[in-house]
Amino acid sequence: MVSSRVNGINESATVSMSNKAAELKAAGKTIYSFGIGEPDFTTPEEIIDYAFKEAREGKTHYTPSAGIMELREKIAEKMKKKNNIDATASNVLVTPTKFSLNLALYSIIDPGEEVLLPAPYYVSYPDIIKLNQGKMITVPTDENYEFDFQEMKKYISPKTKAFMFNNPVNPTGKVYSEKSLRALADFILENDLYLISDEIYEDLIYKGRMFSPGSIEEMKDKTVTLSGFSKSYAMTGWRIGYMVAPLDIIKAANKVQQQTLTCAPSISQYGAMKALEDEESVAKMRQEFAKRRDLTVSLLKEIDGITLYEPEGAFYAFPGYSTEKADDKLSMELLEKYNVIVTPGSPFGAPGHFRISYATSQDVIREGIGRIEKYFNNL
Ligand code: PMP
Repeated sequence: MVSSRVNGINESATVSMSNKAAELKAAGKTIYSFGIGEPDFTTPEEIIDYAFKEAREGKTHYTPSAGIMELREKIAEKMKKKNNIDATASNVLVTPTKFSLNLALYSIIDPGEEVLLPAPYYVSYPDIIKLNQGKMITVPTDENYEFDFQEMKKYISPKTKAFMFNNPVNPTGKVYSEKSLRALADFILENDLYLISDEIYEDLIYKGRMFSPGSIEEMKDKTVTLSGFSKSYAMTGWRIGYMVAPLDIIKAANKVQQQTLTCAPSISQYGAMKALEDEESVAKMRQEFAKRRDLTVSLLKEIDGITLYEPEGAFYAFPGYSTEKADDKLSMELLEKYNVIVTPGSPFGAPGHFRISYATSQDVIREGIGRIEKYFNNL
């Protein structure tokens, strides 16, 4: 019998959809996949070359648990320059981004304490909160996914400890303005909470500007900022990212890291060091994503029966639809009848929606969304 703590955890919804796709592909079907959220590009060559060169030179050993000092320094520099966050190497812990979400909660939350989660949220947050023995409290946002602080106030209890969100947002593509984030910071400070700010899509913004709430002076001791290399540099398989936080949280998280992962993979840390010098590849990929975003938006807008918040960042669109059909049923029908993979909205806290990851070729976008249109026309 497995533990009740793990028994209550779901398998990742996005991963189940891509497993299903693999099955259909093996059966000889062409699948149009808008399922999994990862860039289709290969990691830029100079990053791979540098990591391999370092490996050949013998950098294949354990590193310090918090990360190679030179990388921590480079990340602190990047935080100052790009995010306006006043950090030194001692505020940085190098670790895969999803693991850093776990480390942040493990370090902040006592069993039963509550974490506010604005919906729609990243699909893994509820289970990561559960796994770390916290209690998820979902808070609604308005029709433009803006925070409603009057409403949010109602969800505060003596057990509320943190607020967790990502910006740009997976799944909606929303990019919060500095004004909205300053108002969020006021709410965090008024209620003496921690803010866990997942900024993994920070480089993929097509409209609006990145603003990191950790840059607000009063928020310095209250914010854990997370980011990583997966999305910006097409490095999902390298499993490398980082958290930037006040010293006590970094020390706590580092203890957990020592007794779990030991350290992030050495080779990936060298790859990350090179990546931080490479603004050019990021800009090129962003340009391609911008074209795909425009194409996706224009095609989705043609479909009768769906509504669309126009995404400003990340590589997702999150249409809502007006039928009574459950979103898991809709996704399964799209897969079985039209060979198109989308991810249902319910696991993101938004029933009646589905998520499209447009991190795929323009040909797949055209054909796949064409098929979605046929599906809606035949409903
Ligand atoms: N946060 C968000 C919002 C994400 O979308 C993802 C990846 N889908 C992660 C964290 C995890 O990133 P990584 O795979 O680099 O651990």
